[in-house]
Amino acid sequence: MYFSEDLLSLADRVETRIEGRLKEIDRLIDFNQWKVLDVFRKHRVSDYHFASSTGYGYNDRGREVLDTVYADIFKAESGIVRPHFVSGTHTIAAALFGVLRPGDHFLFITGKPYDTLHKVIGKDRDGTGSLSDWGICYDHVELLPDGTVDWERVRGAIKENTRLIGIQRSRGYEWRASFSVEDIAEMVRRIKEIRSELIVFVDNCYGEFTESREPTEAGADLLAGSLIKNPGGGLAPSGGYIVGRRKYVELAANRLTAPGIGGEVGAMLGTTRAFYQGLFLAPHIVGQALKGSVFAAGMFEEFGFATQPRWDAPRSDLIQAIQFANQDHLIAFVQSIQQASAIDAHVVPEPWDMPGYEHPVIMAAGTFIQGGSLELSADAPIRQPYIAYLQGGLTYSHAKLGVLHAISSMLGKGLL
Ligand SMILES: *Cc1c(COP(=O)(O)O)cnc(C)c1O
Repeated sequence: MYFSEDLLSLADRVETRIEGRLKEIDRLIDFNQWKVLDVFRKHRVSDYHFASSTGYGYNDRGREVLDTVYADIFKAESGIVRPHFVSGTHTIAAALFGVLRPGDHFLFITGKPYDTLHKVIGKDRDGTGSLSDWGICYDHVELLPDGTVDWERVRGAIKENTRLIGIQRSRGYEWRASFSVEDIAEMVRRIKEIRSELIVFVDNCYGEFTESREPTEAGADLLAGSLIKNPGGGLAPSGGYIVGRRKYVELAANRLTAPGIGGEVGAMLGTTRAFYQGLFLAPHIVGQALKGSVFAAGMFEEFGFATQPRWDAPRSDLIQAIQFANQDHLIAFVQSIQQASAIDAHVVPEPWDMPGYEHPVIMAAGTFIQGGSLELSADAPIRQPYIAYLQGGLTYSHAKLGVLHAISSMLGKGLL
């Protein structure tokens, strides 16, 4: 093989060590695969559901059933799954704009939300059409040093006009643990204790199928995520989903299209089969990516790097954070992940000022779906401490080879 004997035998040792975790992930895959399969069977998903609609897309049966299939898998009252959501950010924005009204206040209790949401939230009536521009006020409460919610501050920050509480399940670009569905259940319980009408919204990006339950099963009222991450199974070409309580999903649908139209229309433009098939594959592929992350953590720990989560820690998202010593490590790592991609392996990524992000970001994104991060990819904001965020892998083998290639090329450059 292409890698040195030393590296391959190290990889073998790591795989022996992580064997138990890989087995657990196999059991998770079986559980979630059955969950998806069972819902497909219940709704009699059929070939004719894949027909493409055009124009208004009235009575697109495939779309209607897909909404219900998502709702059922997430054990929610209702769902909306569309290619018209251009990204995760757009999907989350539709949910927030859908339920919030001028004069409302909302509060993220898991620290600052994901970078791309900062401009959605906006500030000082910035004239951009942000939430702030519409007179919707926002706060967040930083997590405690141990990564848990600061309930004392949260209680103090909830005002009379607070309408919605935001929770981000994934670590995003932060050096913290992701929140398990069990953690989220406890958050929901406490929030509803403070005031039962508060709407609990969860940014579920990167979380789907990483556990046997989803946050809607833990009492969350509204959930949003991207189809070019976990639930698209690597096949969805674009899109997002929202599931949760019927009235809130309807409000989000009104925001996506228009009041009075909501989720009743929307030509699927030939995407429906990929949405179904991707969803069917998602439990397996998420499992492959999780195994890849466990392997990556195990390997980089061998070289003395801090990882989050560690190889044996529980996981509730796809992201494997690895802390490097300096900027050169970071850039070399991301570039070598790109070199191990099936697509655009010849392209050398450089840090750039990506729209929506506050620091230059370098990204390895050699993916079949542009920006698709269920596929093997890596991101690193160029800022201290030098942390790379590795995620995805449509097959365990690819994720493993990507890690081996990265280590091998960093060794070759004298960086390890
Ligand atoms: C990816 C992500 C988003 C935004 O999704 P985009 O598709 O990049 O717009 C929001 N929140 C979290 C936690 C994410 O991982």
